[in-house]
Amino acid sequence: MTELLYLKDSYLKEFEATVVKVDGNRLYLDKTIFYPRGGGQPSDRGVVTIGARSYEVQEVVKDGDDVAHILAEDAEGVGEGAAVKGVIDWPLRYAHMRYHTALHIISGAAYRLYKEEAKITGSQIYSDRARMDLALEGLNREKIDAIINLSNEVVNEGREVVYRFVTREEAMQMSDLIRVKPELIPSIPILRIVEIKDFDAQLDGGTHVRNTREVGQITVTKIENKGKKNRRIEIRLEE
Ligand SMILES: [Zn+2]
Repeated sequence: MTELLYLKDSYLKEFEATVVKVDGNRLYLDKTIFYPRGGGQPSDRGVVTIGARSYEVQEVVKDGDDVAHILAEDAEGVGEGAAVKGVIDWPLRYAHMRYHTALHIISGAAYRLYKEEAKITGSQIYSDRARMDLALEGLNREKIDAIINLSNEVVNEGREVVYRFVTREEAMQMSDLIRVKPELIPSIPILRIVEIKDFDAQLDGGTHVRNTREVGQITVTKIENKGKKNRRIEIRLEE
């Protein structure tokens, strides 16, 4: 089981670890700061150095309870127990962090304004934009603007973003707060909640900024109709 260091501290840019297994170009470590793609957030990229050689990490994926770092070439001759130094592409990761927190702010704003009527049905983060699928009766430009205006207020308020680790039982008691039905809470012993202070709380394994101010102003750049009450909304953040 790979220890996921980014869950506690998303600002780690480099780390040291030990090789657990090598399978061709797939490298497994005892711990990592590399985010494996999932939950709408793309994987990190970066470089790992083992002995005198450096390998480009092109993609990172979950593999059961482990994380596989997919290298640009086979790590021939690298054995279990070897020491590794790793560094992530920080500008890319930080962009993902800002967009991920932005999506949580928007989801919190939609809930504040429209309660259970508003449903986020999907989202995808890129380095320069993000999109979210929102279902809401009579969802027009005016309602979208109201959600984004409230979101930008939350950005300007500079609210703290904190991680909380809870047991499944504790999470089930918080089901209203995190807006997940108790029976849909995953059966894992420890869950992480990402909380935007006094505004939003979600079960989430992604990486986020520490303060909503770091997100910057949110602009809607595209709205696509995806059925009667479904809209696909693309956002961009100020540079
Ligand atoms: Zn999330």
